[in-house]
Amino acid sequence: MKDIIDHLASTRNLTLEQLVGLLASEDSEGIRYLFHLAHQTAQNSYGNKIFFRGLIEISNHCKNDCRYCGIRRSRTGIHRYRLSKEQILQCCQQGYALGFRTFVLQGGEDLWFDDDRMCDIVAAIHQQHPDCAITLSLGERSRQSYQRLHDAGAERYLLRHETANRAHYQKLHPADMSFDNRMRCLQDLKEIGYQVGCGFMVGSPYQTIETLFEDLQFIRAFQPQMVGIGPFIPATGTPFADRPAGTVEATLRLLAIIRLLHPHVLLPATTALGTLHPQGREMGILAGANVIMPNLSPAALRADYSIYDNKLSTGSEAAETVNDTRQRLAPLGATLLPDRGDFKPQHPANDEPET
Ligand code: SAH
Repeated sequence: MKDIIDHLASTRNLTLEQLVGLLASEDSEGIRYLFHLAHQTAQNSYGNKIFFRGLIEISNHCKNDCRYCGIRRSRTGIHRYRLSKEQILQCCQQGYALGFRTFVLQGGEDLWFDDDRMCDIVAAIHQQHPDCAITLSLGERSRQSYQRLHDAGAERYLLRHETANRAHYQKLHPADMSFDNRMRCLQDLKEIGYQVGCGFMVGSPYQTIETLFEDLQFIRAFQPQMVGIGPFIPATGTPFADRPAGTVEATLRLLAIIRLLHPHVLLPATTALGTLHPQGREMGILAGANVIMPNLSPAALRADYSIYDNKLSTGSEAAETVNDTRQRLAPLGATLLPDRGDFKPQHPANDEPET
């Protein structure tokens, strides 16, 4: 086991057989070594730091009907909301006072937020907080739209690819969504010059070791600046409501593997991980994650952004308790610096994997 892990760390590559071995292993000492090496690799890349992003969930209206998602179009019985420009700016002001220097605007694909409205909001945040990074996570849009948002001041974009396997993609999404368009979006974002994040759910229905291997290969080819992974968690009122959740253990192992494959990638310990385990965030950091994204949305609306059941939005997920979180994570190196936490490209001299 140790051999496989050392080989993974030095070559930044692994085979399907090795992935199977790592995910199925019951060698707890070997897995501890995997986590340790991944944590150390994160620290080698970014120092003893965890980056904080303020997450603002701007709307839970969505035109899409993704089969896993609790805010899908056809989900009934939930309260739909969208934030006004003023509310969003207020969230940013609160976040700024708390020390956040990155704001992530995430939402369903809500047509109300057309390019004019969205650019106006991005430009206003940019003007009020010129020292902050603006990250968008608003799903699939046209290239022109991504370009306009970039011109308005958005520098980063999160769009999980969800799965790199076409047939799997089709099982997770309705017929009017396409794998090709998802990939087109990611390519456009990259070409425009965004720092881009892709990613997937761990344990999504129909996922196999082979599709996970394809995910890792896709990430290797695409070279994103960020990778978001978290366990799938079933959402009431969706076609996958009765499916089992992904596991904390598999998520941690994949975080560690991704860290070793991509020493410099920005890798969040996600809310979904924190939802499945009270120490999920800490465990994620100890397995190589180096970003956390506390929730800056208006507290009264947080529960409505219910992409899965029992989504955590209190405790360490809540931006206003960031000082407690900072203390709790301090032993792990979680300093909340007023820092944008940009992707740090590898120095060319250090870019060659060791042989
Ligand atoms: N509309 C945006 C934001 C979607 S929510 C977009 O398309 O990017 C962000 C991520 O939450 C999704 O990409 C998906 O991977 C994840 N997600 C959705 N439903 C989930 C569920 N039931 N369990 C775990 N993660 C989920």
